[in-house]
Parts: sequence; structure tokens; C-alpha cells
Amino acid sequence: MSSVNSASKFRVAIIGGGMGGLVLGLCLKKYALDVQFDIYESAAKLTEVGAGVLMSPRIWTIMQELELEEELVKVTGAVDRAGSDILFRKGDEAKVVDIVKLHQLHTFQRSVLQQILSEKLDAKDRIHFSKRLTSYSEPTSPTEPIILHFKDGTTATCDIVIGSDGIRSSVRRTMFAKLSDESERHGHIEDASRTRVMVEPIWSGHVTYRGLILASELSEDLRRFASTPQILCGKDRHVVLYPVSGGELVNIVSSVYTPGSGTVYDGPWVETTTSDKVAKLFEGFNPNAVALIKSLREPLGWALHTVPKLTTYIKGRSALIGDAAHAMVPYQGAGLGQAIEDGFVLAKILAHSSVTLTNVSEALRIYDDVRRPFSQNVQQGSEWNGMLYQLRRAGWEDISVEDSAAGRYPPELLSAFEKDVKAQMEWQYDPGASIKGDIAKVSGMLETLSAQ
Ligand SMILES: Cc1cc2nc3c(=O)[nH]c(=O)nc-3n(C[C@H](O)[C@H](O)[C@H](O)COP(=O)(O)OP(=O)(O)OC[C@H]3O[C@@H](n4cnc5c(N)ncnc54)[C@H](O)[C@@H]3O)c2cc1C
Repeated sequence: MSSVNSASKFRVAIIGGGMGGLVLGLCLKKYALDVQFDIYESAAKLTEVGAGVLMSPRIWTIMQELELEEELVKVTGAVDRAGSDILFRKGDEAKVVDIVKLHQLHTFQRSVLQQILSEKLDAKDRIHFSKRLTSYSEPTSPTEPIILHFKDGTTATCDIVIGSDGIRSSVRRTMFAKLSDESERHGHIEDASRTRVMVEPIWSGHVTYRGLILASELSEDLRRFASTPQILCGKDRHVVLYPVSGGELVNIVSSVYTPGSGTVYDGPWVETTTSDKVAKLFEGFNPNAVALIKSLREPLGWALHTVPKLTTYIKGRSALIGDAAHAMVPYQGAGLGQAIEDGFVLAKILAHSSVTLTNVSEALRIYDDVRRPFSQNVQQGSEWNGMLYQLRRAGWEDISVEDSAAGRYPPELLSAFEKDVKAQMEWQYDPGASIKGDIAKVSGMLETLSAQ
């Protein structure tokens, strides 16, 4: 594993073969021909749990850069290659109230998207399965290899380690334990304990129930209703639904908020449940949404956890990407998109001709400078959106489930909702906030690095 190739400038170990890790591999393969990489995945094969996934225009630009657009358009079955609009509605009243439409999202079945990414990566010999990282060493010299330790007792070496190992990341655990030890050694005891707790995910207060339904099993009316991508908002509950795979399937994500965020979740994080149990939580909600929930077979309940706002994504020659760095609630459909942005930006940095084994830890600082503030803003915005969709924004606390269902709320709530959601989601659509701008910024910063 990881034998040194004389043509490569350094060897990267990607820990975790989720979609974030696969995209990083894909970007390295495309942009960094002189960088060798291996992916270490704890599972025995690539699997994708879950149902559908949304992709915003900002992420679509990366798919175009990676020359994946044609293939992806085929599997979405999108009539318009720019994607579909998404409609925000108030959905906890007997009759839905339309609020605002935002534009152009692409929707996928997760397993299909993953298959396309792994086929495009086409690097079976570089993916090592059943390799669960437990920890890694941090060399003192800038060129000494890092030693990776796996649960099966084996080891491997690399020059750079990237944690794309999800919300319970072992790379984050190792990195923050080392940071904490360092603070302790310098006598910064409070910093040390603050740093140590950053390892633990936080319970968000949201439980979401998700699954796919075969459109052909639905009545004509329900099929028509479900053909519009939409977010049905309501007090303490909301439902996201959209068609995937050319309308063959409908993805349903229904979420319930229970006060208690920040505490420890008492129960399994992911659990199969029944559609009747979920439908009961949505009693009185829009009848079409409830009928769709009832059509789910074995929905999966997810107690949503997030990663605390980390003080860094890097240490020495290690870095975090995706959920390992910034797992967020899914209320902008942005977690995977942020993992893709991380992988794209990081690969562009590692590929740059000025980046070598001796200065790579400085180059990783640029990754941290550019990606951490952006992705943490998205993380924060996703939390705000969750509160918005559940009508829990400041000033709306006293509206009860019954009031909301009976239409007893200030009429300006709907216009405030429209204004807030547009402002919050703007970064995904605004051409001025394109990922290309970030790449230009990174290139400028790398020029400074070359001059050092
Ligand atoms: C209900 C819901 C809906 C969502 N909808 C959207 C959406 O519409 N759009 C969007 O952009 N995002 C969405 N997300 C978020 C998205 O799913 C995640 O942000 C994304 O999958 C993170 O990818 P990742 O590769 O960073 O992590 P993961 O997908 O968690 O992959 C981590 C990989 O690492 C492996 N691994 C773990 N530990 C180790 C170890 N120690 N050693 C080796 N391998 C290891 C795991 O087996 C796994 O393969 C949603 C999330 C949820 C819960």
C-alpha cells in the first residue's frame, strides 16, 4: 500500500470513501497528476445510506469543471438542464399556502450519484476497503512519513492525511487530541478542555425521517403533487419532497423539532421506523404530504447531529473535509455540496506547482483560511433555515401548532419568511459568489507561498 512513486511529489491518504472522499480523489486525479493518493474506507464496499440529495448551482459549476454534467443530466432526467425550481410553502394548514419559488437545483438518488463518482474515479486499486483508521502519527520533521494505524492492526504511510471520514471522524479525534495536548503542555488548560470537546458531535434537536417512494405506486393526484420539488413548512414540523431519477422515485424528508439541542441524544442516531409512526407525528399536516409519508416503506429516522464550530480544519500535514469538518443540519441541502467544495479547493491547492512536501503545511493553511469561514457560514445558515422552516424564528415562538394549523399567525410572517429564505439561500445562486472566485483567491494566495 502507498508505495512511493518516484514521479509523485507527495502521497495523500484520504480517510473515508464517502462522496466527499471520492470527489477529492476525482479532483486529484484530474488536477494533480504528480500527487499520489490512496483512499482508506472502513466499510467492506462503497455504500450510500439515504435517499435523495440536492445540488445547487454553485456545486453544479464544479460538476461542469469535472466534466460530469452530461452524465449527471442523464440520470436526473431533468427536462431543463439548468435543474428544477423549488417551491417553499406553508404546509401545516389544510390548504397549502405558496410563499416563494427559488430556482435551479439538481436532484439525485444518492446511490446513483455515488456510482457515477466512483466509476469516474475508476481507481479500484487505490481504494482499500475494511480499513478503519484509529489514529495517525505526527512526525516532527517536515519530510518524515505519517504513519496511519488501522483497527485491524495494520499500518500504512503517507505524507498528507485528509479526514473525509464523516461526522464521527477519527482524523478529527486524533487532530484535536493532539491540539489539546499541545495547549495543555503550554499551560493553557481552558483551551485544552475546549479543544478536546470539539471532537464530539452535538445533537441538533431535529429528527428527520427519509425514504424513497416509487412514483408508479402513487395515485395520479399524488404523483402530480410530488412532481414539484417543494418544502412544506409548519410549526415544529416540515416536509421536503422532490422527484429523483427522472421522476421514477420521490424523495421524502420529513423533520420534527424537539427542544433539547446541545444535549446528549438518548437513542440510536439512525433507526428504521414505520410510516404509520411518522405519519402520526404529522397529524393535521397537509393531507398530500401525510399520504406520501404513509407510502414510505421502512423510513429511516435520523437524529441529526452536527460538528461544533471548529477552531481549525488543519494541523501540520493533516486536514479535514466534509462532514468530518462541518457536519450540518440538511436545511439548505448543502452538506455534500460543502464536502465537494472542500475537495475541489483542496485538490487545486495540492496540485499547484509551488506546493511541495516541505511547504505543504503552509499551503494547507490557505485551505483553512478560505474554506473554514465559508463552510461554517453555511453550517450556521443551515441551522437558521431549520428554525425558519419550523417557524421557530424570533418573534414566532408563541405561535402554537394549533394556531399555525388554523391560520392564526400574523400575515407578515409569510413575507418575512420569503425575505429570510431568499437572503439565506442567495449564496447558492449568486453568480458573483461562484466557486471560481474562491479558486482565483486561492491562486493569488498560493503566489505568495511561492515567493516565500
Ligand atoms: C436527511 C439528510 C439529507 C441531506 N440532504 C442533503 C442534500 O440534499 N444536499 C447535500 O449537499 N447534502 C445533504 N445532506 C448532507 C450529506 O449527506 C453529507 O454532508 C455528506 O454525505 C457528507 O459526506 P462525507 O463524505 O463528508 O461523509 P460521509 O458520507 O459520512 O462519508 C464518510 C465515509 O468515511 C467512512 N469512515 C468513517 N470512519 C472511518 C474511519 N475511521 N476510517 C476509514 N473510513 C471511515 C465511512 O464508512 C464513510 O464511507 C443530507 C444529510 C441528511 C442527514
